[in-house]
Amino acid sequence: MKKSCQTNVRQHQGDSGGRKRSFNLCALTFVGHGAHARKLFREFGADARATEPAVGDAATARLARRCHAIYLSRVGKFSTAQAAVVTATAEYLAVFFDLPVRSGTDFNPTSFQPWAIRQHPLRRHPQLLTDYLIDEVLWLDRPDDAVMCLAVTAWDLCSDEHPGGQWGSVFGEARFGHAGVWSLRYLGDASVSDTAFRRCLKRSCAVATHEGLHVLGLDHCEGVPCNMRGSACLSGPLHLCPPCLRKLCWNRQVDLLPYLQRLRDWLGRWAFAEAAERYDTMIHWLASCLGRRSQSRSSVS
Ligand SMILES: [Zn+2]
Ligand SMILES: [Zn+2]
Repeated sequence: MKKSCQTNVRQHQGDSGGRKRSFNLCALTFVGHGAHARKLFREFGADARATEPAVGDAATARLARRCHAIYLSRVGKFSTAQAAVVTATAEYLAVFFDLPVRSGTDFNPTSFQPWAIRQHPLRRHPQLLTDYLIDEVLWLDRPDDAVMCLAVTAWDLCSDEHPGGQWGSVFGEARFGHAGVWSLRYLGDASVSDTAFRRCLKRSCAVATHEGLHVLGLDHCEGVPCNMRGSACLSGPLHLCPPCLRKLCWNRQVDLLPYLQRLRDWLGRWAFAEAAERYDTMIHWLASCLGRRSQSRSSVS
């Protein structure tokens, strides 16, 4: 089953005619959501490893326990700056999913079937069909230990599910339990400056993890600002809302506090200050919550 992923360029351009909304700018933060988010997070932190979340997919969790790596394929050529963005995104994927990211088979689009490439309906540049990449290309030699296969390209992507319209492009797409793809095409020119590089990297990390989470079984989220909220629009946040974070942690069975610290450290190394501060807040809440629990246990005993 393919996750219908509206990470499409049309939404980014502000056309809200689609049935799912893109992100607003992240005006409401995790912290800004106040008591509701804090309550969710305290509940989450109290039992993140022990219990199954209300919504989750047992099949993908079993798959994740048997398999041990993400495989990342590169499709087509990249500029030097784009290649560096892909390398850094792979590092982030490893931290975010708590899995090693290994190089998958790389592909040259000139070897693809003719029907896998179409002309953009308006701009006439060539586009790769996501269905072909996911269902044909990434099925080839799929490693036995792959939790998910991901592919990244600098080509424009188009989807059978969103074929028309003047925009006619998607940032990415994913198939539940198998694979996801994303494109750097509309994520900005990473070669212009350090700021432009980091902006492109942040967008790449957001789209790549959004598609990867679809592969693990997470659907779009209609709650507080979240990387799974409808689409990985370019202005969307890197972080997950508490329910989505809980699903990921249950699926990956991560130890929450060190996991959050690893995410915070990676974001800090790339000077994503706002995102790093958000994780600092989560870490603070969780540490104080765990401290209270251990205090109450010792007072009972
Ligand atoms: Zn999606
Ligand atoms: Zn969410």
